[in-house]
Amino acid sequence: MPPPQVAAQVKNSGGQIGLAKPGSGSSGKTSASGKKSDLACHTCQKQLTLDATEESVQCCRCKKAYHSMCHEPPLHSDFVKYFPWECPECKNCNVCGLNNDEEKIIICDMCDRAKHIHCLNPPLQQVPTTSWFCTDCVNCASCMKVLPPLKTRSEGFWVDRPAGKTQRAASHRLCKPCLKQKEQGNFCEVCCKASPSDDDYIQCDYCQKWIHTRCGNLDEEQLKLYAQEDQKYMCPICKDQI
Ligand SMILES: [Zn+2]
Ligand SMILES: [Zn+2]
Ligand SMILES: [Zn+2]
Ligand SMILES: [Zn+2]
Ligand SMILES: [Zn+2]
Ligand SMILES: [Zn+2]
Ligand SMILES: [Zn+2]
Repeated sequence: MPPPQVAAQVKNSGGQIGLAKPGSGSSGKTSASGKKSDLACHTCQKQLTLDATEESVQCCRCKKAYHSMCHEPPLHSDFVKYFPWECPECKNCNVCGLNNDEEKIIICDMCDRAKHIHCLNPPLQQVPTTSWFCTDCVNCASCMKVLPPLKTRSEGFWVDRPAGKTQRAASHRLCKPCLKQKEQGNFCEVCCKASPSDDDYIQCDYCQKWIHTRCGNLDEEQLKLYAQEDQKYMCPICKDQI
């Protein structure tokens, strides 16, 4: 006969589920109201919220949270929050997804994402001795010109793409001339490159963005099909969202 189920195993009364971390013991915090978040900053141990009222970040893997300013180094939350953030212990190279060769992993001073020096394109031979910024943060995605680093996101121009089924969330920076091309519709949202208006473009009927027909892998046959009025075209970015 199996023993009857023990009620205590499922009862949520202890208030310390999953929080039995060394060093984060009782700090006199009362958890009387069951509603209040018991999330605490990993550095200062003070309670924090993850909404817009506070500059904070939470690791997408272990759920550890920090006030942006309590993290070492302090983080620019408006850059960091754009991507699933990984804490120092959970950080993987953003290109290969691994965390081997730790001494060869460098971290972007703007977005806090990590990459192996050999996973960069082009690769670096040595870990840089000064601040390092990833290509997404300081290179124009279209013309590749190197742009100055930013303190806040809103100082720059960005092309944002939400995460899809197969693609990670992406945010690419643009220089002013390339932004102008984008505003004039001479810009492909898939390859993130500005090109002349007489290039072959097709507009997505769902997101209204323009893309190169070559970037949508459209052949002549398909193009003829989409030229018909009742044929709606969906771009690869929208397809990846479903
Ligand atoms: Zn803190
Ligand atoms: Zn973590
Ligand atoms: Zn790597
Ligand atoms: Zn970056
Ligand atoms: Zn540019
Ligand atoms: Zn393109
Ligand atoms: Zn679309």
